[in-house]
Amino acid sequence: MMRGSCLCGAVAFEADPPYREVVACHCTQCRKTSGHYWAAASVTHDRFRLSEKRGLAWFRSSTSATRGFCRDCGASLFWQPEGEARISFAAGCIDGPTGLSLEAHWYAEDAGDYYRPEGPPPPPTRAETLHGSCLCGANRFTLPGPMGAVTACHCSQCRKTSGHYAASFDVDEASVVWQARKTASFTTPGGGSRSFCPDCGSSLGFRAADGSFSIEAGVIDNPTGGMLTSHIFTADKADYVVLDDGLPQEPQG
Ligand SMILES: [Zn+2]
Ligand SMILES: [Zn+2]
Ligand SMILES: [Zn+2]
Repeated sequence: MMRGSCLCGAVAFEADPPYREVVACHCTQCRKTSGHYWAAASVTHDRFRLSEKRGLAWFRSSTSATRGFCRDCGASLFWQPEGEARISFAAGCIDGPTGLSLEAHWYAEDAGDYYRPEGPPPPPTRAETLHGSCLCGANRFTLPGPMGAVTACHCSQCRKTSGHYAASFDVDEASVVWQARKTASFTTPGGGSRSFCPDCGSSLGFRAADGSFSIEAGVIDNPTGGMLTSHIFTADKADYVVLDDGLPQEPQG
């Protein structure tokens, strides 16, 4: 049996084998909800149980699917296709070793321009103003581009909130101009604050305890001028994640 949970513990689940192996999805919706791209295993409904659902909220992300997230911490947990007796659950939210492997990349053509699904990132594009938004549109903002260096974080907190692992870029918080804003925040054990959309669960940003601020790379809509440059907290990375893009890895952040 496998167990999983969100970052704050207000949503938890159990699943019995057999599981579908992990699929990474680079579609626009998965990029916004996760803040980078989403990765999930799946099981049939008869092998799936919610052991805690007090924080669970659902967002209808298209006519054919809904997404489950935690309204307390913003973790992106589930994808439920309409009319199917099978649910996808975030690989990054699984507790302990998964024993799974990443077997496919979906919608690779929709991947962000700051990374490639496989291999090293492409050279940066030109981007003067970045436009960002959450999946439902309740949050929209602009900030000066380009995105610049993007850091992938594999710490257990980023794994839970994103559902896979996170990717973000440093921003002067005062330079962000909000055209629409509806954010919730979750204070992490380390004293940082993660912001997310309370309506759709999209991961938006992180303010560290020292005041430094970053935005999740996956919520930017236009060419970013960003480039993934490193992986941090790789000592905490999930066992199904294989890093083969040649970028530097820092085990402890
Ligand atoms: Zn939670
Ligand atoms: Zn939203
Ligand atoms: Zn992290």
